[in-house]
Amino acid sequence: MSALEENIGKLDGHLKKFREVGILNCIAGVDVTGSQGTFQTTSPVDRSIICNVAHGSKEDIDRAANAAQEAFSVWREMPALERKEVLIRIADGIEARAEEIALCECWDTGQAYKFMSKAALRGAENFRYFADQVVQARDGQHLKSPTLMNVTTRVPIGPVGIITPWNTPFMLSTWKIAPALAAGCTVVHKPAEASPITARLLVEIAHDAGLPAGVLNTVNGFGEVAGKALCQNPKIKAIAFVGESQTGSLIIKQGADTLKRNHLELGGKNPVIVFDDADLDRALDAAIFMIYSINGERCTSSSRLLVQDTIRDNFEAKLIDRVNNIQVGHPLDPKTEIGPLVSEEHYRKVTSYFDIAKADGATIAAGGEVMESEGYFVRPTLFTEANTKMRIAQEEIFGPVLTSISFSSEEEALEIANDTDYGLTGYVWTNDLTRALRFTEKLEAGMIWVNSENVRHLPTPFGGVKASGIGRDGGDWSFEFYMEQKHIGFATGRHKITKLGAL
Ligand code: NAD
Repeated sequence: MSALEENIGKLDGHLKKFREVGILNCIAGVDVTGSQGTFQTTSPVDRSIICNVAHGSKEDIDRAANAAQEAFSVWREMPALERKEVLIRIADGIEARAEEIALCECWDTGQAYKFMSKAALRGAENFRYFADQVVQARDGQHLKSPTLMNVTTRVPIGPVGIITPWNTPFMLSTWKIAPALAAGCTVVHKPAEASPITARLLVEIAHDAGLPAGVLNTVNGFGEVAGKALCQNPKIKAIAFVGESQTGSLIIKQGADTLKRNHLELGGKNPVIVFDDADLDRALDAAIFMIYSINGERCTSSSRLLVQDTIRDNFEAKLIDRVNNIQVGHPLDPKTEIGPLVSEEHYRKVTSYFDIAKADGATIAAGGEVMESEGYFVRPTLFTEANTKMRIAQEEIFGPVLTSISFSSEEEALEIANDTDYGLTGYVWTNDLTRALRFTEKLEAGMIWVNSENVRHLPTPFGGVKASGIGRDGGDWSFEFYMEQKHIGFATGRHKITKLGAL
């Protein structure tokens, strides 16, 4: 039996229960149907229906918010060490079911097993990392003044809403849910409608690990209804959102009447800038990895290659060879590097850029075509002879599609790199230290790597500038979002209080 057949067999076993009962919502620790009936989730591999999914409405969201409100005092007051133990048990549970999570994620989203098996384990790491922070999360400062002993402390903000997208949905959900729970918040999670399966696995794992009922509630449904209701619910104190920049604007608008605190992780059109003094072999590996892994459906993907004109021909020739060699195939085949795109709508969006590129006058140097198949497969694509004003250089395509633009000087590279509405990541390849210092200082991005691909380190701040987002995740930055700062001043003596009405 091939590895692919073996994985398909295992997946079949894991999906059996979902085929029988569908994916239910989980509110107050109880599995419930959606008040709007069901919708279906399909696989991008062959367009087959996977299972029914509870279709949540405003009513379901409001019930979940009530449950999160009721559970808040229980979870907030639970001794930190006990909360920490629950989070560690969730991490253990994720590890124990990592293969199931990865297989289901691949089938639901089209992502390759090669990457999803690691993403599932990163979900466990997220829980372990934030479990370690639970005890000190509430600690504050002592700021003495002449008459007061001022102390600060942090308290969890309350029930929060977490709205996640369909690209690597499991890992991204844990990235938000783990720090929220570590802070002492309760959660209503609205997963993306295109990829509901692993959110269901997560809530199951959390309850098996002893998370009290109502602390994590999962309501499936569509953004315009369930997502909107979550933003508008007055019991929900903050929304952590990952998704498109346009949806990010809606999140702010929808939450305005209830004065929501928002954390927005949005889109990107990230540059990888390759100077002629760089280690070009490593730069090539990293540039390819950052755009063609995870199907290019990755917010931090290096979707714009800025390559110095002195090395362009050579660099692009090697790039074309490698891109044409990338293995596109069944996502459950461990050898596959690119699987199908997540949905028909997204497939149409990504493939529409093949004609846009031609109309703009760019060259399709690799790919640029769909593949004969029942699923949403596209060949990894490279556009060359592009310039920064073209739509392929400005718009987030969110697929395995790279736009290459050449530059002649450092100044020009910086100008092109910053010539975008977005500002999530930047990747700079040079062996000139002072240039790296100058360049990174002026590059408009929330996260920059020099001579490296994106290597996530959980204590560092993750987030973007410009249209790529507001706020940061990671380390203590996560707690700044999920917690309120509180100041308390204790008089240390009998200082003079200005008297009014006491002549
Ligand atoms: P999307 O904005 O369409 O949807 C994201 C989530 O928002 C889904 O759960 C959806 O149901 C919900 N939603 C949609 N409309 C809503 C509304 N009016 N109110 C409340 N919720 C609503 O994004 P997507 O297509 O699922 O994901 C891809 C996008 O996510 C890309 O732009 C990508 O760059 C971005 N992304 C960003 C990061 C980051 O960290 N910056 C990480 C991953 C993905």
